[in-house]
Amino acid sequence: MATLAGLATSRGFVSGPVFLNVGDRDLAVPEYEVPAEKAAAEFNRYHVARDETRRQIKALAEHVGEISTEANIFDNHLAILDDALIVDQVIKAIREDHINAEAAIHRVVGRFREMFGQMDDPYLRERIRDLDDIERRILRILLGCEETALSAITSPVVIVADDLTPSETVMLPRELVLGIATDRGSATSHVALLARALGIPAVVGLGDVTRRVRPGDMVLLDGSNGSITVNPDAETIADFERLTRREKELQALVDEDKQKPGAMKDGTPLKIVANIQPGVPFASLAAFGAQGVGLYRTEYLWLGSDHEPTEEEQFEAYAEAVKAALPVMGPEARITFRCLDLGGDKLMRGVKTIEANPFLGNRSVRWLLSHRSVFRTQLRAILRASAFGKAAIMFPMIATLAELRECNRELEQVKTALRAEGLAFDEHIMRGAMVETPAAALCADQLAREVDFFSMGTNDLVQYTLAADRGNEQVAYLSHASDPSVIRLVEMTCRLSREGGIYTCVCGESASDPVLAVLWVGLGVKVLSMSPSCVPVIKKVLRGVTLAEAKILAAEVLAACSTDTALELYDRCRRFLLEKVPDFETIQTFFTAN
Ligand code: PEP
Ligand code: MG
Repeated sequence: MATLAGLATSRGFVSGPVFLNVGDRDLAVPEYEVPAEKAAAEFNRYHVARDETRRQIKALAEHVGEISTEANIFDNHLAILDDALIVDQVIKAIREDHINAEAAIHRVVGRFREMFGQMDDPYLRERIRDLDDIERRILRILLGCEETALSAITSPVVIVADDLTPSETVMLPRELVLGIATDRGSATSHVALLARALGIPAVVGLGDVTRRVRPGDMVLLDGSNGSITVNPDAETIADFERLTRREKELQALVDEDKQKPGAMKDGTPLKIVANIQPGVPFASLAAFGAQGVGLYRTEYLWLGSDHEPTEEEQFEAYAEAVKAALPVMGPEARITFRCLDLGGDKLMRGVKTIEANPFLGNRSVRWLLSHRSVFRTQLRAILRASAFGKAAIMFPMIATLAELRECNRELEQVKTALRAEGLAFDEHIMRGAMVETPAAALCADQLAREVDFFSMGTNDLVQYTLAADRGNEQVAYLSHASDPSVIRLVEMTCRLSREGGIYTCVCGESASDPVLAVLWVGLGVKVLSMSPSCVPVIKKVLRGVTLAEAKILAAEVLAACSTDTALELYDRCRRFLLEKVPDFETIQTFFTAN
C-alpha cells in the first residue's frame, strides 16, 4: 500500500481499478521532401486537416457546453488553429523548406511552444497545453491515426495519466470514469477546471503517480483532500467508505436549498448571484441556483485573445449573455458587466508590464481613462447588449469622485452617440462603482450620488487596505477580509450607500465564505456574488439566520474591532453560525476543504 499526496481539485471520494494513460504524447512525426510543384497539394492537405480539426473542436465545445462551464477553452483552441501567424509560418515552411505538412506543423508549433515556455505568466505557460492538444489533433487527422487510447475504456476506472488535454478530458466516457489522478497540473490547469465542471473527483500534481501504479491496480482517490492510495489494506478501505458516505450526505445537505430564492430565516430576500467570465453556459449557473450575474469579468475577452476584441465581438458576447439569462434564471436576473479590469496581474497575451508597481499603477479604470477609445468601444458594446435584457455597467477600482464622474461622462457621451445612430439600448441601465480601494470606501458618500449601486471587491480591498500583495504568499498572513480595518470599511460603505439611497453588493471571494457572508449581510449588504458552485452553501447557511440576528452579530463584531484581531473576529462569526445554524458544524467542513 502507498499513499501519494497532490492537489485536491475536484471534490469526491472514489475507488476503482487504474486505467493508465501515458498516451500518444510522442506521436511519430514523419518528415519528407515535398517538391515545389507539389506544394499546392500539400497546402491543401493542411487546410483540409484544419477544417476537420475545426469541426472536431466545435463538436467538442458543443458537447462540453451542454454539461459544463468550460466550453470557452475550445475558443482558445479555435483561436490557435486559425492564428494567422501560425498558419502563415506553416505555409511558409511547406513552400520554402520543401517539407510535408506534418513536419511543417511540428516545426512551427515547436517554436511557439518554446516561446510560451519562457514566459513568466503561468496563464500563458498553461497555453502550451492548448498548443499540444491542437498539434496532436491535426497530426492525427493528417496521419489517419486513431484518437487516444482513452476510447478503449469499457468498464468503470480511475484514470491515472501524466496529464490530460482538455479534449481528452471532455470526451472521457463520463459514466465509466470514476476519478482522475495526474502527475502534472495545478489548480487552474484545464484538467482541474474541467474535472470540477464535470463533477469527476480529481487529484492533480501528484508528481510521479504514473510510475507508482500498474494498470488494474486498485486505488482510493480522495478529491476532497487530495490523495490517492494504491492497493489499500482492509482498514484503509473501511475508513474510506466512511468518508465517502459522509461526503454524499454533506453534498445532499448543502444542495437542499439551492433552487429556492436566496432568503434569510425570517423571509428577508437576499440576492445570491454569480461571478463569471465570457463563455460560461447559463444552464449551469441556473443549476447551481444563481439568481443573476453580479460580476461578469469582461477582461477575459482580452486575456484569451491576441487582438483587441472589436465592438462587434464584444457585443456578440455580451448580448448572448443577456439573452441567455432570461430563460434559465427568470426575468429578474441581471447581468452586471464590469468594464475592462486590465493591469496588475491581468495582462494581454504577449504584453509585459513596464511599471515598477503595477498594482498601484495604470490599471483598471485608470487604464480605461487613459485609453478612451477602448473604453468607449466597450461601453457601446455593453449598451447595445442592454437592449436585449437586464444589464448593468460597473466601473472597476474607482478611487476618486473625479474618476467616477469621468466614467459617467463617457457613458453619457456614448449614449448620445448611440441615440444619434438610432441604435437601441436600455436608457436606464444601472451603473455601479466597485469599492476596492480604501479611498472609495472612505468617500462612499460622494460616490453614492453618482451611481445606482456599489460592489465591494474585497480581494483588492484587502490588498490595498493591508498593503499586502494578494498574490504574494509571504504576506498572505495579512490578507484577511475579517481584518478590523476591512470590516470598518465595509460597514462605512454600507452605511453611506444606505444614506445615499443605493445598495451594496460584495463580489470578492469573501462573499463565498458563509462565515463572512453572514457578517456582510448583518452590516447591510443586499447582494452576494460568487463562484457559481459556492451558491448552494451560501443559500443554505443564510437560510438558517434571521436578519435581526445577523445585525446583532454585526454590531458585536464592530464593537470588537477595537480589541480583536482578524482571526478572532472571524472566529466570533464562526461561533455565531455554530450556535444558530443547526447543521453548521457539518457544513463548515464542506467549504473549508473547498
Ligand atoms: C475583487 O477585487 O474583489 C474583485 C472581485 O475583482 P478581481 O478579483 O477580478 O480583481
Ligand atoms: Mg478587483
